[in-house]
Amino acid sequence: MARGQQKVQSQQKSAEKAAKIKKQQGHSANDQKKAAQKALVHVCAVCKAQMPDPKTYKQHFENKHPKNDMPQDLKDL
Ligand SMILES: [Zn+2]
Repeated sequence: MARGQQKVQSQQKSAEKAAKIKKQQGHSANDQKKAAQKALVHVCAVCKAQMPDPKTYKQHFENKHPKNDMPQDLKDL
């Protein structure tokens, strides 16, 4: 039954390959998530503090830099 065994082996191999690709895809999806999170970091134009979202940035700006002009995109929030 050499033929049958070969078939099983090749099935196992392709299953391994698929698992590897899945792993790689999962990995790159994680990286993309990280990159997206990084892009969401808002850096204060005045003191360079990093904020996770624009609302926090706006609050920070109002509290810490009331005399500075607030960036237009924060006013719109
Ligand atoms: Zn600041």
